[in-house]
Amino acid sequence: MMSRRSLLRSGGIAGASTLYGASSRPPNIVLIVGDDLGYGDLSCYGHPTILTPNLDRMAREGMRFTQFCSAASLCVPSRAALMTGRLAIRSGLTGGLPPWSETGLPDSEITVAQMLKKAGYGTMCVGKWHLGHLPRYLPPNRGFDDYFGIPYSNDMSKATNPRAPWADKTPPTPLIRGVKTIEQEPDQSTLTRRYTEVATEFIRKSSRTGSPFFLYMPHTFPHWPVAASERFRGKSLAGLFGDAVEEIDWSVGEVLRVLREQKADQNTLVIFTSDNGAEGGSAGPFRDGKVTTWEGGLRVPCIARWPGNVPAGVVTPAFSSTMDLFPTFAKLAGLEMPNDRVFDGEDLTPVLLRNEAGREPLFFYYSEADVWAVRKGRWKLHVAVNNRKMPPPRGEGDPPLLFDVQQDISERRNVAQRHPEIVKELLELINRHKASITPR
Ligand code: MG
Repeated sequence: MMSRRSLLRSGGIAGASTLYGASSRPPNIVLIVGDDLGYGDLSCYGHPTILTPNLDRMAREGMRFTQFCSAASLCVPSRAALMTGRLAIRSGLTGGLPPWSETGLPDSEITVAQMLKKAGYGTMCVGKWHLGHLPRYLPPNRGFDDYFGIPYSNDMSKATNPRAPWADKTPPTPLIRGVKTIEQEPDQSTLTRRYTEVATEFIRKSSRTGSPFFLYMPHTFPHWPVAASERFRGKSLAGLFGDAVEEIDWSVGEVLRVLREQKADQNTLVIFTSDNGAEGGSAGPFRDGKVTTWEGGLRVPCIARWPGNVPAGVVTPAFSSTMDLFPTFAKLAGLEMPNDRVFDGEDLTPVLLRNEAGREPLFFYYSEADVWAVRKGRWKLHVAVNNRKMPPPRGEGDPPLLFDVQQDISERRNVAQRHPEIVKELLELINRHKASITPR
């Protein structure tokens, strides 16, 4: 929750200019997001057969987070929260948005891009938007100067998902530039390459303007059905899924290469993360995956690099989430946070720039519009669960279930009976949180 104290702390332009040394200009921001990329899907997060040398190098040159959460365990609410710094329940986007939906992120919400525009940023979105595909909801009407990509998931048409019960009522998958469909059913194996070409062209163009830029690059992959270009197909030891992840790694390498080429390396913060936990790949040591409120559903990789500003080679267990990016970017841009609404994220610059320990974990795990779990400090209480990939351990019992997620990182030992006072405290915390929310 963004407290009054943090709002004050976020300061103004004068305060922010001391953040990035001699430069008086806010940094460029590049935010790259994988789709359904799990905590364990990169080599720097322990995957044994998917090789991600560019992300590994980015981690060595920057900071790697080990307790970073997406805001929700599926695409739409996670993106709504990332773009607004607020829990998805506040914007009403708590479920999926199929191609026949007529809605999107409400106009009353402020996106990261709209906020950064106030500080003179050039803005671009390349990839999977999934906050409404009708023109009025697309990125060019939500703070982005331009857009290129598939506006929703890549499995939402008859051609890509013929066995889905709703396949007959779907239009062909659109590839959009600006707000116009320029192709239907594009060859998905070319998408990562094409996204990369458009993104690097934007970096080159923007670097010549003298103004800061914000590139938001939510990849289509490795969401099912995965695809990779010929250059990557069959190359990894982890099947087509591994190929797709390795191509995304290549894409990150291209972005970093072009930033260097443009001499924008030192004044660009690059962040890589994922929209939700594992689906086709690995959650690493965490339990279960996407569409659950187990750690595997929300714990995602996060790597931040900004040479000379983000300390190099740091691995941090600082608790953080995608909702922290909005206030963090506001701080870096020297902007006041809007004071007419509640934010659920907090400014991460003390962690990012000074390697501070960060705040005590406090996080509500939503399943659509309902709170299923809360984490406070080391303790996580589940009041409802779904088990998709893994059967529960024998004798686990029914919720409420309590886990010490700092020691028992895989959530295997329910200790609710041993700590009734903590169960009570966390139940009250959930009730107070629910009472404080006015769903949209
Ligand atoms: Mg996703």
